[in-house]
Amino acid sequence: MMILSHRLQWKPVLAAVMAGFFLSALVGPVQAAVKRPFLIAVDPGHGGKDPGAIGCQGAKEKNVTLAIAGDLARLIDRARGMRAVLTRKGDYYVSLRNRTRIALRAGAKLFVSIHADAGPPAWRGATVYTQSLRDATGKASDSLADRITQQLRRIEPARHDRRADFVVLRTARIPSVLVETGYITNPAQERELTNRGFQERIAAAIFRGIQSYLAGRGG
Ligand SMILES: [Zn+2]
Repeated sequence: MMILSHRLQWKPVLAAVMAGFFLSALVGPVQAAVKRPFLIAVDPGHGGKDPGAIGCQGAKEKNVTLAIAGDLARLIDRARGMRAVLTRKGDYYVSLRNRTRIALRAGAKLFVSIHADAGPPAWRGATVYTQSLRDATGKASDSLADRITQQLRRIEPARHDRRADFVVLRTARIPSVLVETGYITNPAQERELTNRGFQERIAAAIFRGIQSYLAGRGG
């Protein structure tokens, strides 16, 4: 009797499951169309006629930034509910004003600019820059920068500098950070920054920082 009653109860359960399946098949695409992905602008610094900083072995910042930004964009695109907007996709020049314009026109909610630093040969490590603004956007930028800095510290020395005065950070009205991924003028770092494995690790660290920031703000 027990077995029989179980069998009898299966029918409505199965019907409910089937109904749910067909319903979700119908509703699914509608929901997907309504819920837009969270757009993140990824900005590879320099490009074209502007090589950026150049290492002693001849590595150009514009190539390092394009590689790391491409890796970061791929990680973002693979993540659920996120989409990347690259401000440049090849070796060509884009003005600073156009970089923010591309990001804002696409509807980006975050702006992450990728660079490689120049300094004395002994200097190494990453610096994440934000502009010290006291409004909500400034606070969000600082929080995002802190999360990215924490993740970069697993790979190399990294610090957060709040006194940036970069055009890209000033003109966007969305949380914005500028990541100097390392010193291209340090011979050892020049080798690292041109190494695909290192580039991927840096991109992954920035990505984890973004994820951590988004989790922290409940979105
Ligand atoms: Zn740069």
